[in-house]
Amino acid sequence: MGTEKSSIRRGWTLAAVVVLGAVACAPSQQAASRVGGPVTLMSNGWIDATATLDPATTPVYEGDAPMKFEFLKDMRKGDALTLSAYSLGAHSGTHIDAPMHFVLGGASIDRMPLQPLIGPARVIDIPDGVQAIDVAELNRHEWKGAQRVIFRTRSSLRGWMASANFHRDFAYIAPDAAQLLADAGVQLVGIDYISAEQFGAPAPMTHRILLGKGIPIVEGLSLEGVSAGDYDLIVLPIKVGGHEGAPARAILRKRTR
Ligand SMILES: [Zn+2]
Repeated sequence: MGTEKSSIRRGWTLAAVVVLGAVACAPSQQAASRVGGPVTLMSNGWIDATATLDPATTPVYEGDAPMKFEFLKDMRKGDALTLSAYSLGAHSGTHIDAPMHFVLGGASIDRMPLQPLIGPARVIDIPDGVQAIDVAELNRHEWKGAQRVIFRTRSSLRGWMASANFHRDFAYIAPDAAQLLADAGVQLVGIDYISAEQFGAPAPMTHRILLGKGIPIVEGLSLEGVSAGDYDLIVLPIKVGGHEGAPARAILRKRTR
């Protein structure tokens, strides 16, 4: 036991040295990665592209479950601890649609692979006047070759992901553009309002096309502070077993090469 304990202690000491070394080396992190040395992941340069979940500022899709946030205990009111509960639709705020949302037998959130959720992504600026992102609009932009495509639309320009009022006239991805992106092998599609589908569309074709190919859709991104260009994306949904969607944290970091 004594030997075991001391080897554990030695392990911790070694870990501490490694961490200290990493901190000391932080400025030369990029150089280290270029020569194949160990890379330490840092928070530098990452932009939070997540809308804050807050009933006062989060839009709820027409007809969807209302958000309810409450404090069961509150230290600010003299309780010994703070403890809260919230209930909200699975498609609240920044969230991911899994194939199960519109594909019978499709993967649920917890069964989606990580691969499409982490990697290079291109943010494309769609002008305020454009509501339908169709093939004609898509082809006005440099999207070809992008592994993940994120649309920054009128929603970001108008601050709609931070406004509790639901807007029906959000910009959406038209089915023909969804088909083109899917056929081109795009791994993930994102947009900055709570649906990628036209409000009142006769059929959810955009969802069917993308999710039918196993392409996750990130909806409700907060892109006010993001400009068009190439980024690294990490977007991870809460791992809810057997459900078709879940809120996610999305972060972007500008690619320098
Ligand atoms: Zn959704």
